[in-house]
Amino acid sequence: MKKIVFFSIPAHGHTNPTIPVVAELVKRGHEVWYYSFKEFQEKIEDAGAKFIPCDEYLPPVTQQELERKVGKDFAALIEMVVDTTIALDDKVCTELQAFQPDCIVSDSVCFWGKLFARKLGIPYICSTTTFAFNQHTAKLMKPRLKEMLRMITGIPRINKKMKLLRKQGYEVENFISIIQNDNETNTIVYTSKDFQPLSETFSDRYAFVGPSIRQSSDIHEKEAKRKLIYISLGTVLNQNKHFYQNSLTAFAESDFDVVMSVGEKTDISSLGPIPENFIVKKYVDQLAVLQKADVFITHCGMNSVNESLYFGVPMVLFPLHSEEGMVANRVAELRAGIKLKGSKPKDLRSAVAEVLADQTYRKNAQKLSESFRQAGGAVEAAQFILSL
Ligand code: UDP
Repeated sequence: MKKIVFFSIPAHGHTNPTIPVVAELVKRGHEVWYYSFKEFQEKIEDAGAKFIPCDEYLPPVTQQELERKVGKDFAALIEMVVDTTIALDDKVCTELQAFQPDCIVSDSVCFWGKLFARKLGIPYICSTTTFAFNQHTAKLMKPRLKEMLRMITGIPRINKKMKLLRKQGYEVENFISIIQNDNETNTIVYTSKDFQPLSETFSDRYAFVGPSIRQSSDIHEKEAKRKLIYISLGTVLNQNKHFYQNSLTAFAESDFDVVMSVGEKTDISSLGPIPENFIVKKYVDQLAVLQKADVFITHCGMNSVNESLYFGVPMVLFPLHSEEGMVANRVAELRAGIKLKGSKPKDLRSAVAEVLADQTYRKNAQKLSESFRQAGGAVEAAQFILSL
């Protein structure tokens, strides 16, 4: 029996793909601990791992700050990570020195997992729910000018935090050494080689296992009646009343059925009257909806895009920051979807009409679906962890 410790950040998109991997490891008789957050306790325990809450160690961030910073303010991300690492240091180091795990599997942006592994001399495996990232793919990110400026002006703040880490016993040369995974790092990537841009630049240490799809969802038989549009901006930057209202206007009393997920913090009654052909909810079973959907209007979070492609659903792409922009560009490049030209009702209507009129988009999404299914998913990820 192996002892495996997972770390992730408080985000559905980064936690969800790891859950079936945990379940697979537990099923094979291994002991798994998961340092995570209360929001995910039930999922983690249902998968059979020991859940360890870290909520009280996170620096307090308001929703407004989150909206301003996620994916846009790199220095703020590093500051948050270092503060969390230092807050957790005593607890985690004591617990893991006693537990003696065989390895740590940590999300690619949950840098504290990597830092603990390094400090305690425990083998580290990186878990990447976004595209794998190296100096070649970095060039595809095309950060917006504002993001670039924030990055440059934030460097002194980052350097201050690096000093703090060193004082705490972490050997870090610079922040690049924390964020960068080189070709020597064992890395699980939850997409296929076909979808990963510049996949030839990654070594064999990268296991492209495809999306790790949770098995709990009902499998829906597709009914060939009205076309179904699914709309979601994910679980983080999803407070966008203007966009939801434009979607309601665009497809009210149309020939489509529409399912729209608006996020936990959106007040549905503030959106105005909901047309009869719409179902609007704060959260839906996205995998179940995608199995019925004809087109997905998405913010291009990596998981949403992976899940859409897994079920062969073409997309209308509405990325909100540069990382999502890179995902959107890849989907557009492979012609499995098209980018929205604007977010007015007419833009939404014409993009959906184009994706549905040209079968190429669905065919290309289905081709990628094939590559995902062959990649092995959670079973392959578990196998990779155990093989190391
Ligand atoms: N999700 C869901 N129901 C919803 C909205 C989102 O199940 O109503 C899930 C979705 O299936 C995906 C994750 O939440 O696994 C969102 O991750 P993604 O990377 O797409 O976006 P993020 O929320 O991180 O921006």
